[in-house]
Amino acid sequence: MQLLTLNFLRAGTPALPVAHTRNTRSTRVPPVTSRFYAVATLALILTGIAHGADLRVGVGRAVITPDTQPVWLSGYAARTVPSTGMIHHVWAKALALEDSGGSRAVIITADVLGLTREITSTVTARLAAKHGLQRRQIFFNSSHTHSSSVVWPNLSVCGDFTAEKLKHVVEQNRVMTERIIEAADKAVADLAPAQLSRGRGKAGFAINRRRREVAPVDHDVPVLRITAPDGTVRAVLFNYACHCTTLTGGNLLINGDYAGFAMLELEEAFPESTAFFVQGCAADQNPDPRGTEAHARQYGKELADAVKAVMAGDMRPVTGPLRAAFTETRLAFQPVPLETFREELVGKDVFRQRRAKLMLEAYNMGNPVTSIPYPVQALSLGQDLAILFLSGEVVVDYALRVKREYPDLDLLVAGYCSEVPCYIPSRRVLAEGGYEADDSMIYYGKPGPFTEAVEETVFGAIREVMEVVRKPWKRKGKHEK
Ligand SMILES: [Zn+2]
Repeated sequence: MQLLTLNFLRAGTPALPVAHTRNTRSTRVPPVTSRFYAVATLALILTGIAHGADLRVGVGRAVITPDTQPVWLSGYAARTVPSTGMIHHVWAKALALEDSGGSRAVIITADVLGLTREITSTVTARLAAKHGLQRRQIFFNSSHTHSSSVVWPNLSVCGDFTAEKLKHVVEQNRVMTERIIEAADKAVADLAPAQLSRGRGKAGFAINRRRREVAPVDHDVPVLRITAPDGTVRAVLFNYACHCTTLTGGNLLINGDYAGFAMLELEEAFPESTAFFVQGCAADQNPDPRGTEAHARQYGKELADAVKAVMAGDMRPVTGPLRAAFTETRLAFQPVPLETFREELVGKDVFRQRRAKLMLEAYNMGNPVTSIPYPVQALSLGQDLAILFLSGEVVVDYALRVKREYPDLDLLVAGYCSEVPCYIPSRRVLAEGGYEADDSMIYYGKPGPFTEAVEETVFGAIREVMEVVRKPWKRKGKHEK
């Protein structure tokens, strides 16, 4: 009980800890006053518990494994045949959070390569109508498993989608969208008092797959634990930056890759819980070695063990309030002469042909692809915990820079959030060139590399949302002076 109260103190609970500290420091107290102080202290401790439990949390989930199989799996251009079965189900999961002031947030995770604007806007419109949630309060993260069904039109350049194939994909995507909404509905309906705590571990299986002279990695495993008042673990949210590409193009079985195995392992260890994997800035991060189901199981266990170790240790309490922010900027592409696409259209490379067709059609419609919209979101819980949600396949440089720029915050930096339109290279990766900077744009149906401004434009948006979610605490600081 005492430890609990002191923990709230460290978490920066306003007003209460000061009063409590004064009481516990009293040395000579008359008997009657002593009883009064005992009651008052107990009341304060109970208030402390109430305050610590000022968050309510709800959990929801729905299977998104396609009902009708086989399906076309997304992620590898080399695949020429559809799925042949599954290893385990893939899921849409939702974590609803509400603070004592009634502010809400819903974090949605999905075992897919990447969601699209079409899906996120459908989900947000429906959740706005049903629950009054605004866009800024709804967060999406795709695990980027390369063993889940195609989400149209992501990487549509990779496949030859006949009308019949496309009909199946569109229907699967419609059902998946409904399941995502179902998971979010369940989470909101499930809101109940909960205690949140946080910690940080490490896992070392991700390497920088670009293998250049400068090869940064981010081995952090931030963990958020959600428990019921009786101590039962209801949810575990954890983050790691590594491509879900342990299983390669030869795999035709639906599964969540290492992240899917990690979640299963944690749900087995905490049977009342739902595990949420939040993909990090993993664009240039691969598991190594890779290629077999055994590798995926091994990394899943390694990651789950890192999470369990954090949960077995001294975790710090998380309190409200919740603050959510959303902004959208635009990322500009370097100009590409029309002649390049005319040549590619009649060239031998089928992927460049398809990309050129998209680019010329857009140009002739009067909408040449010169930039893309880029949503950025942030969510803060209490004074010193923030989750940053970056869209697209973000290289690890972004997570490392965010952590450097906000050293006072406990940060969870997620990539693959909202929509996943293409890779998001840093200025360094752009200068180096290669797949994440340039070639991947062919498969994503984009004209070519971004301009050099890409990193600073993204950071402008990051600063904007971080400013909003940190505002109340800055104001408080000023008043205190
Ligand atoms: Zn990728």
